Amino acid sequence: MKTEKVDLKNFSPSELESFIASFGKERYRSIQLLRWLHKIGVHHFDEMTNLSKGFRQELNQICFISSLSPLQIEKSKDGTQKFLFQLEDGNRIESVLIPEKKRLTLCLSTQAGCAMGCRFCLTGKMGLKRNLTTAEILNQVLAVKKTLSDKASVTNIVLMGMGEPLANYANTLKAIELMTHPDAFKFSSRRVTLSTVGLIPELESLAKEKTRFRLAISLNASDEETRSRLMPINRRHPLKKLLELCRRFPLPPRARITFEYVLLEGENDSPKDAKRLLTLLKQIPSKINLIPLNEAPGIPYQKPSEERVRQFQEILMEGGLTAIVRASKGAEISAACGQLQGKTTD
Ligand code: SAH
Ligand code: SF4
Repeated sequence: MKTEKVDLKNFSPSELESFIASFGKERYRSIQLLRWLHKIGVHHFDEMTNLSKGFRQELNQICFISSLSPLQIEKSKDGTQKFLFQLEDGNRIESVLIPEKKRLTLCLSTQAGCAMGCRFCLTGKMGLKRNLTTAEILNQVLAVKKTLSDKASVTNIVLMGMGEPLANYANTLKAIELMTHPDAFKFSSRRVTLSTVGLIPELESLAKEKTRFRLAISLNASDEETRSRLMPINRRHPLKKLLELCRRFPLPPRARITFEYVLLEGENDSPKDAKRLLTLLKQIPSKINLIPLNEAPGIPYQKPSEERVRQFQEILMEGGLTAIVRASKGAEISAACGQLQGKTTD
């Protein structure tokens, strides 16, 4: 049965190499396989024409090549597209494709649901269903790429869809390794961004990893009390410890950490908050993305007025920080940050 077979897309490049060594095959064969699986994205072993028929048959007996196809694609007037996928076990996840000037950014999910329970996020309200496999993370990329015209290509990947990527550490890291591998997806590590609430032990491990990518941290408050109220995880991994770790986090030359800050009216949007942020981020190479809340039924907050958002941004910029207000794309199809719930619309 298919499910008892091994999904080849779950192997990292080195795992694939060891796996095929057990067939007595040379290293370059694993490179050929990587290309077929991820770069070209074939569905059947028969298509792997530079592998011998015998080897293909052997592989077919114990392995399979998984794929995802969208259950629904919704398009927003601003060009944003939301892809809904149903997984083998019936769980549903979403990916969002966002066109912006010269970029085409693909936002991927790393978990079905999320256990972190941030009070302003609909994915958080679902709770955690389960972690995605490496294959399921990567198959979102292949499935979306298949819908693009020859001229279009995904330029940036952000792990900012459903789920907390560092709570699914091993599978997410393996997926990033393949996304940036020259024989697989070949994205530049500067064009892959992982967004996290800031799980300290996982960030400590990340600091020692060879796999490179950009880091974004969801800050969302400027003091412990507010952050704990908005993001329960702050009680376990407090702001103070998180920022202390950010100060010593090894970054590539000229790289900065992006701090995301969802603005909620009357909660975290005062000039005092902005000034406190300046002090907090002083010694960290950083930039700030301000995201006015995407409101939704069931979310007990509102977004601040444009004036209030501008005032907040100005205080940060006058203090010498790069602060960008993120336009929320795809809100009308519930594809904006924090709106992913894996539901179909009729
Ligand atoms: N779990 C990770 C990545 C997914 S959430 C994380 O939290 O970082 C991606 C971003 O969406 C986070 O910065 C989060 O703070 C933001 N977000 C969540 N709900 C939102 C909402 N309702 N409006 C605006 N941004 C939201
Ligand atoms: Fe999870 Fe991120 Fe939503 Fe928080 S904001 S509940 S960590 S997906």
